[in-house]
Amino acid sequence: MALEEPIRRVISSVDGDAQAIQDFFVRMLRINAVNPRMGGPGERERADFLEGFMKDNGLPVTRVDVEDSGVPGGVRPNLSAKLEGKDARRNLWYISHMDTVPEGSRDLWKTDPFEPVIREGKIFARGAEDDGQSLVASLFALLTLKKLDVPLPYNVGVWFVADEEFASNYGIKQLLGRHLFDESDLIVVPDSGSPRGTDIEIAEKSLFWMKVTTVGKQVHASLPKKGLNANRIGMRLATELDDMLNAKYRKRNRLFDYPVSSFEPTKKEANVGNVNTIPGVDVFYFDCRVLPVYSLDDVEADIKKRIKQFEKKYHTTIKFEEVEKEPAGPATAEDSDVAILLSRAISKISGVKPRFVGIGGQTVGNLFRREGIPTAVWSTIDDVPHEPNEYSKIANLINDTKVFAAAPLLSSTSRGPRGTNPGDQAFLQRRVL
Ligand SMILES: [Zn+2]
Repeated sequence: MALEEPIRRVISSVDGDAQAIQDFFVRMLRINAVNPRMGGPGERERADFLEGFMKDNGLPVTRVDVEDSGVPGGVRPNLSAKLEGKDARRNLWYISHMDTVPEGSRDLWKTDPFEPVIREGKIFARGAEDDGQSLVASLFALLTLKKLDVPLPYNVGVWFVADEEFASNYGIKQLLGRHLFDESDLIVVPDSGSPRGTDIEIAEKSLFWMKVTTVGKQVHASLPKKGLNANRIGMRLATELDDMLNAKYRKRNRLFDYPVSSFEPTKKEANVGNVNTIPGVDVFYFDCRVLPVYSLDDVEADIKKRIKQFEKKYHTTIKFEEVEKEPAGPATAEDSDVAILLSRAISKISGVKPRFVGIGGQTVGNLFRREGIPTAVWSTIDDVPHEPNEYSKIANLINDTKVFAAAPLLSSTSRGPRGTNPGDQAFLQRRVL
């Protein structure tokens, strides 16, 4: 496939800067940015370093410091920079996070997690993959576009946010609350991916964790009539919920590896310490991952209805608690602008056929989708986040820098808001399940 002139210039510019990109990445990884809620110093020093570098390179920086009395200095930094394009009301944002998880057990690391080591084309350090590679790739994509001074169809920018590894309370959630994004924006969250860069994640399942406590009456096991066996009621209830939920919520979505909703009885709390006592309390948990087509409120209502029936039948009290409830936003359309332009860039730069996927986990992409903003989650990674000896492949760092820089140049907004053209479907690999 012949490449257009601006794409060729992007490729040769990034290749020419490859050593500088790698050197910068190593310098950034030396700055510990472990999330402060996980025992680390937080993002501040890394943010200062990034802000200085962006300013030195002529990028106008916006800094949003969010108050956090729990860290030295009292604030959590979020940084942004953008280049202006023809349509000044629309933005393509690459959103990555500065914080990392802790290194974990040092014994499992072959090298110092905060002194990056390059070996066999990989950079080993905590945060190299999650989310350092994407942060550096998007930053250098922006610098490449600035250097080449190519006309952009709309603004192109980056956000480097705080607190993704904990709860995004001082990062994305704050930025969304301040209305810094718009429904017309194109959001790319490069914080999950696949080894060949084929998978563009456009949908996530809703997450629902629940805890159910059944109260009976504890007695000696030889005298069951005197008591009420909470364990038996709990087991029956768990089995009924399992059957009912899996039977009722059975729609399929081919985007997902596990294409239906899942309702799994998981954790069970220990009850009595000995065999000859009938338990007076039983506690079980469910992990539910529900396709975005369903409402979690409906699921919850069904569960509560069944619990009421059990209370009546067994003359007992059953307590229901939400441990975690995160509804999924609507899936991003396969023909949305962001999905299309990313597909084109991946196809041209990485030379692979992209495919659209859904995941059972959740990323900050879901927070944007809940606001009605189309969002694609993508990067080229071996998928080793949070692991000891975490690494980033230098080839992926350079490749993704090119993809991020090329994407806005392949934009199709001139053809209308949806931006599809018939040729696009040819390189979109359909997943058949
Ligand atoms: Zn991450």
